[in-house]
Amino acid sequence: YEAKTRGRGRAAFFDVQLRERLQRYLELEQDLRSAVDRGELWVAYQPIVNLHANRVGGVEALLRWTHPVHGQISPDEFISMAEESDLIHHIGSWALSTAIEQLAEFRTRHGLDLQVKANLSVRQLEDPGLPETVDEALRKSGLSAKSLSLELTESALMHDPATATRMLQELRRYGIRLAIDDFGTGYSSLAQLLRLPLDSLKIDRSFIDGIARSHDAKALVNSIMAMAHAVDLAVIAEGVETADQLEVLRRLGCDQAQGYYLGRPAPIEDLAATIDLADRR
Ligand code: C2E
Ligand code: CA
Ligand code: CA
Ligand code: CA
Repeated sequence: YEAKTRGRGRAAFFDVQLRERLQRYLELEQDLRSAVDRGELWVAYQPIVNLHANRVGGVEALLRWTHPVHGQISPDEFISMAEESDLIHHIGSWALSTAIEQLAEFRTRHGLDLQVKANLSVRQLEDPGLPETVDEALRKSGLSAKSLSLELTESALMHDPATATRMLQELRRYGIRLAIDDFGTGYSSLAQLLRLPLDSLKIDRSFIDGIARSHDAKALVNSIMAMAHAVDLAVIAEGVETADQLEVLRRLGCDQAQGYYLGRPAPIEDLAATIDLADRR
């Protein structure tokens, strides 16, 4: 009898937890719909260092949501939420045009030739109007197409390779650069990936993690890099958190690097200071 009550109590406890999680989800999803209009979304910028020139050559635009009650919500949480509905199109194009606009303004003000890298959701590949939307935002801002690089994860590219290929070719025709993000985390066929019209490859940070202490990890990154360079892709390392990791990447001939060691994502107001610090690493 006792065990049974305990069991029932536990079931009720999980039930409450589940209900709270569901409630939070539904509440956030509702709030996300008006987040853009209420000005709760903003873009953070993380410096990316060109390891040949030894200076910041670009920034990654990372979307942020400051919820009035719950504070910072992780993009991993709210972007997948937006992807479940059509909200991703609205939020995605807002993020893209905001990044283009803010960076164009920053470049003019500081006389810096920076590239902006922005993330695209797999769902945005479905939108045939995307290339034109991006082109319009570029024209309005005065930023050249080659100053924009769009990042797509391996899984986004492989979800529907035919549609992805058509979209990438179209974006390419406008002169926009394209990158594969989180490389190494998917199970895609390398041959298929290399058929896509890409300019660069970003090695996932899980591979960067061990390069300063493990020979195997370093050898793996080295071979990814050799393979990418063989087909003329520039290589970017993400998640660089220590001076030792940066040193290894430099020695291996990696082209670009980003990570907390070089600078954390920051609001546009702090970007100049963030770039100054990264330049000195
Ligand atoms: P991502 O594209 O792989 O972005 C890199 C993530 O790693 C960012 O997390 C960044 O803050 C974090 N990061 C940077 N340096 C380091 C480091 O040294 N160590 C560690 N541990 N992490 C580092 P964040 O900003 O939380 O974004 C998470 C993901 O959300 C992004 O992963 C991207 O997939 C997605 N995301 C962010 N903004 C957008 C957007 O505007 N559109 C779309 N579709 N997705 C976005
Ligand atoms: Ca990215
Ligand atoms: Ca990534
Ligand atoms: Ca990621």
